[in-house]
Amino acid sequence: MASEADLKNFLDLQGIGLFAAGPIREIKKDFSLTREMSLEKIDFAVSLAVPLPGASLEGISDRPTLLYKHIYRQANNLLDRAALLLCLWLSQAGHQAIPVPASQILDWEKNLAHLSHRQVAEKLGMGFYGRNNLLVAPGFGSRVRLATVLMDWEMEIPGPASGKQLGCGTCQKCVPVCPVSAIHTGPQDFDRSACFGKVKGFEKIRGIGMGICGICVKACLGPER
Ligand code: SF4
Ligand code: SF4
Repeated sequence: MASEADLKNFLDLQGIGLFAAGPIREIKKDFSLTREMSLEKIDFAVSLAVPLPGASLEGISDRPTLLYKHIYRQANNLLDRAALLLCLWLSQAGHQAIPVPASQILDWEKNLAHLSHRQVAEKLGMGFYGRNNLLVAPGFGSRVRLATVLMDWEMEIPGPASGKQLGCGTCQKCVPVCPVSAIHTGPQDFDRSACFGKVKGFEKIRGIGMGICGICVKACLGPER
């Protein structure tokens, strides 16, 4: 059977250096995917991350740029490809595995996807929920894209935030930059509908054509030290 080192080497070859693996039993009841298929035997997951290069965000001031869109999509493509290859690799070893797309929304109004990659990433120790309601990963802030592979392989490789009490602390950098004042004290009072409305507006910009923003992502390099 494959080992932790085999998994690390495999993902490294796919260009994925940031990941974590572990149990997701306690949170799988939250996954919309359970409406499509049984996850009865699927109790583990791998959270995959691709950091966004700083250059992709440089030109962003009050709206997403075409360069950001391009890199955002390519990061998602890289994640989706790595997730599919990981599933095929696990299948060959006799495991069940399901690649969950990096960016596939089932219901825009309800902000619903097959599952929340953030929730899985946080559970496996990849980072914490920031004030901007995004994952904040140590060393990268919110500048990461995520995907998930669900599996029955009982593998545990805790992420870099595992066991640590991390949070935004005194950092407020993303709060004033949001054009619709959606960010306040934390995920609990994050204004989803204001953010959603703005992102939908950005979608109409010529050449953008998708629900992205990037403004608070650019602001977040993690808590101030
Ligand atoms: S994605 Fe844009 S609109 Fe939404 S909270 Fe961040 S800055 Fe505000
Ligand atoms: S910019 Fe600061 S306050 Fe905002 S999510 Fe990142 S760490 Fe938290």
